[in-house]
Amino acid sequence: MDIVRRILSMREIARKERESGRKIGFVPTMGSLHEGHLSLVRRVKELADIVVVSVFVNPKQFGAGEDLSQYPRDIKRDADLCIAEGVDYLFHPEPEEVYPDGHATIVEVEGLSRKLEGKSRPGHFRGVTTIVAKMLNIVHPHVAAFGQKDAQQAAIIQRLVKDLMIDVEVLVLPIVRDEDELALSSRNRFLTVEQRRAAGAIPRALQAARHVVAEGIRDPEEVVASAREVIEAEPLLKVDYVELVDPRDLNPVTAVEGEMLLVLAVYAGETRLLDNAEIRVS
Ligand code: AMP
Repeated sequence: MDIVRRILSMREIARKERESGRKIGFVPTMGSLHEGHLSLVRRVKELADIVVVSVFVNPKQFGAGEDLSQYPRDIKRDADLCIAEGVDYLFHPEPEEVYPDGHATIVEVEGLSRKLEGKSRPGHFRGVTTIVAKMLNIVHPHVAAFGQKDAQQAAIIQRLVKDLMIDVEVLVLPIVRDEDELALSSRNRFLTVEQRRAAGAIPRALQAARHVVAEGIRDPEEVVASAREVIEAEPLLKVDYVELVDPRDLNPVTAVEGEMLLVLAVYAGETRLLDNAEIRVS
């Protein structure tokens, strides 16, 4: 596996691979890789001839007072994991090269970016869509994989690719969970033993919502309340939001019918944890 540090080198490598007729698969990450990331790598490896993983802790998607400097970084370990998965190129550029002096262009998906996470983290998705657009321009993959763990991000990226007519197939792949069903996240390592135990209430809250829908509850507020209750029973957790939304526009549903997404953000101490579950009534 090659570790590629320069944008021009990455671009040149990708161009040559394409010209040789090879299909390029891409998994963009912020590193500190776990089984969730690796599940994306494995799927992409099945679909493409060449796998590129990027590791870039994108400063533009962190707000003031967020955990940019504390965000876990371990490129050596990430590289070892990528080698073990048969990744071909690990792209690990410097922030100074990605955002040189004079950088002035941002990419923003309107509407979707203002809801849910966007309300709590203003400017976050602008950072995400700007870096994803840059990465897709550099790597020019045939296929790029994202996790349903960040459901809103996935929806926004699908919109971005459609709107800017970027020539890439976007895959959104299932959430990988720990033994107690907590979604894997690079931020889980910040949790104390007690917080980690308490966080088990998050997937239980999603289950509770699914359960009340299966039992016939058809009032969206009751569904949301059933999930909220489970989290609020844990003194170490603090709800930021719990919403039952339409997966297409991320607006709260007015009726419990068809395909829905229960999305939530919860704090355990300073650590922000996201999760979601599809709920379907046919
Ligand atoms: P991150 O490094 O957190 O920016 O995540 C990089 C990619 O991995 C994103 O597309 C995430 O949605 C995805 N991802 C993160 N955690 C998981 C998980 N537990 N299961 C599946 N995909 C994940």
